[in-house]
Amino acid sequence: MIIVLKADTPPDSPEVLRLIQQAESYPEVHTEVHQIRGATRTLTEIYLLGSTGVIPTEPFDEFTCVERVVRVTEKYRAIGRHDESLEAVGFEYNGVHISQDTFQVFPGLCAVDTRPNVEEMFAALAEHGVVTSRAGAYKPRTSPYDFQGLGAECLPWLFESAGSHGIRIVAMEVTHESHVEQIQKALSQSGNATGVMLQIGTRNAQNFELLKAVGQQTELPVLFKRGMGITLEESLNACEYVASGGNRRIVFCLRGMKTNLGDPHRNFVDFGHVPVVKRLTRLPVCVDPSHSVGRRSIAPDGLLDVFHVTAQGIISGANMVIVDFHPHPEEALCDGPQALLMDELPRFLEDTQIVRRAYEERLARVATPS
Ligand code: PEP
Ligand code: MN
Repeated sequence: MIIVLKADTPPDSPEVLRLIQQAESYPEVHTEVHQIRGATRTLTEIYLLGSTGVIPTEPFDEFTCVERVVRVTEKYRAIGRHDESLEAVGFEYNGVHISQDTFQVFPGLCAVDTRPNVEEMFAALAEHGVVTSRAGAYKPRTSPYDFQGLGAECLPWLFESAGSHGIRIVAMEVTHESHVEQIQKALSQSGNATGVMLQIGTRNAQNFELLKAVGQQTELPVLFKRGMGITLEESLNACEYVASGGNRRIVFCLRGMKTNLGDPHRNFVDFGHVPVVKRLTRLPVCVDPSHSVGRRSIAPDGLLDVFHVTAQGIISGANMVIVDFHPHPEEALCDGPQALLMDELPRFLEDTQIVRRAYEERLARVATPS
């Protein structure tokens, strides 16, 4: 059962404490308080966990601080919308608000390699007013002989460089729970020069111990990438592992499915699932056109396939785009063939804005009766 409090109710007010006490007076019931800081207001939800099936909802409805009591019967207890009764308010992290209504682009290096490349990338983003990026320090590679990422050693200069260019969030994959601690330590040593969104890669979508580890800390948000060979339901359940650990700041990323039916793209583009994930869950949805397409093919109309699938994600309401760029893709140590070039950045950003505006125009028409 979830009790949604009226906006801006202080969670430590006497009435809320009485409510919690009453909830916990039922045998084998405990509570968790979750605060969701949205752009304009803060929502507090009290989760009643344990044997809640027999608890009546009416006594809780009577508290003046309660907006609504939602009985959770279906799947996706922590991330679900429960028949639209829960709002998808999203979250704010390091000054950036991310929700099912917002839109951000995270262009950056697939893997951190050299400091000059990192500087060039962040400087180009700063020039275009972009404050969100990607940079992998721990790379999960199909072959053990391939570059595995620079690891913890690059974090101090990476964070310093990000901070000096005004980058507020860097999406970075972790493949082991020790990486979370290394990132937290390096961030704090950098004086929190920037922020990090912990990426769970497609290969670790069902690494339940790793999911629990990123879920049990609430400092850093999580970008969960859909498992490439499992069902959507299995991927959403994996997100439940993160959320049920306590961390509700999760973005769900579509990145294509592994099947030869997608050939000649690297993965079969699954961006048609943007509205599905938004309907089933409260999570903002990201699309990754680089790992979906995996190449720099150009369509006969002159646009790269990466541009086309990005547009397909945005026109369906995607809230985030994570995309590979590299100043010298021929020298990149990971995924060079799919990287966009620095001189393609302005055009790419402009293209995303054109499509986002078209999406917003479509929304406005849905809202206005014809
Ligand atoms: C990545 O984003 O660098 C990556 C490895 O993606 P995925 O896990 O989707 O393959
Ligand atoms: Mn990659």
